[in-house]
Amino acid sequence: MPKRTRDPFICPRCGTRVEPSKTWQLVSPFPDSKGRITITVMGSFVCPECGHKWRGVVSKLKVGGEEVELETGSGRKAKLGAEKKEEKREGVIFEIDIDEDEE
Ligand SMILES: [Zn+2]
Repeated sequence: MPKRTRDPFICPRCGTRVEPSKTWQLVSPFPDSKGRITITVMGSFVCPECGHKWRGVVSKLKVGGEEVELETGSGRKAKLGAEKKEEKREGVIFEIDIDEDEE
């Protein structure tokens, strides 16, 4: 599979890797075909090198049903265990640790 997904952490202007200065979550109001709700984690970035500002999708979570599907900005998917059913109602927050050197 060709790697086409743009890394949201990379400055589109100069290629510097930037951590998001701010992140927030967008929760889709409608479930998908499998009855899962998509939570999109957005990030706001400011490049320290060239000052360019942009926003990007940091990750996507699909919550509901049997499992939680996590899609990172680089197109990688991970399945989280099914023991997440007792999630807190307000602001579902996952600690996401992306290991880029894998594979
Ligand atoms: Zn830049």
